[in-house]
Amino acid sequence: MSKSPVPSFSVDPEPDDFGSGTHQVRQVCVDCGAASPTGNGDDTLISVKYGWRLSRTPDGAGGHVFEWHCRACWLKAKQARSG
Ligand SMILES: [Zn+2]
Repeated sequence: MSKSPVPSFSVDPEPDDFGSGTHQVRQVCVDCGAASPTGNGDDTLISVKYGWRLSRTPDGAGGHVFEWHCRACWLKAKQARSG
């Protein structure tokens, strides 16, 4: 058996941050338990398209807890606060 030829040219690294499947983290709304739509990360979720919001609240131990809110619950909370 002979060794297979190894290409000597350089190959550009593939941007495997996108669409590789390992990035599919689904957030859950802490208010209604709805799972976030699968996207390409937090930026997409927070965007106008989905309208999710990430709130940061102190956890009482010097750290913070991140909580996701879907668009509906966020609007509800906003309305409750203003009126
Ligand atoms: Zn919700």
